Amino acid sequence: MKRVGIIGGMSWQSTIEYYRGLNALSEKYGNGFSTIDIIIYSLNFRDIENFQRLNDWDSIEKMVSLAAVNLERAGAAFLIIASNTIHKILPYVKMRVEIPFLSIVDAIGDEINRRENKKVALLGTRFTMEEKFYIKGLSEKTKAEIIVPEKKDREIIDRIIFEELTKDIISDKSRSVLLNIIEKLKKDGADGVILGCTELPLIISQEISPISLFNSTEIHIKKAFEFALKDN
Ligand code: GLU
Repeated sequence: MKRVGIIGGMSWQSTIEYYRGLNALSEKYGNGFSTIDIIIYSLNFRDIENFQRLNDWDSIEKMVSLAAVNLERAGAAFLIIASNTIHKILPYVKMRVEIPFLSIVDAIGDEINRRENKKVALLGTRFTMEEKFYIKGLSEKTKAEIIVPEKKDREIIDRIIFEELTKDIISDKSRSVLLNIIEKLKKDGADGVILGCTELPLIISQEISPISLFNSTEIHIKKAFEFALKDN
């Protein structure tokens, strides 16, 4: 099986889910005790969040590229970035290494096509919902229409991610606020909702959602595991 390189720490609360999820799939596949070969390069989220606020994506690119180069040197066969938002700079980071990256955006696009959804709502950080990279990336993969919540709701989601979920705070109040937003998107015709932030599955699950969920963390993990299994 290939060695997986994970660029994580954005935040650690979701990176830990990658470690757990990949090992769980590996144990199931190998009938117990079969853990997977992983190297995690965990970045300091305080720096990342600070640069995001300053809109200093060059510094973020430098940090993520250094992690990628080090993971390649350490023998990773391919790389994943355990954050949707950080995919904004993926095209630049990709150029620094020879080994492939498995994009979370591509993984979601493939899954939308597999499930044949027609109109899907996107939840994530303000960068993911408002900047071009994510929706453009999805539209290169799928014909499904992608919608985002209204401005006020985008601000609420972004606040919940940065003020709560990445600080390990999971509250019932925020869960109902998020569910209300999903209800509104359903009324607007969405037949699915992308949890396009790797922390969102910590607070929203399929069981409580009124529409079909695209859990970006889970979908990315599954793609990475399938890729690790392949011979080439
Ligand atoms: N984990 C996040 C995501 O999936 C947000 C944290 C970050 O800004 O990287 O977008």
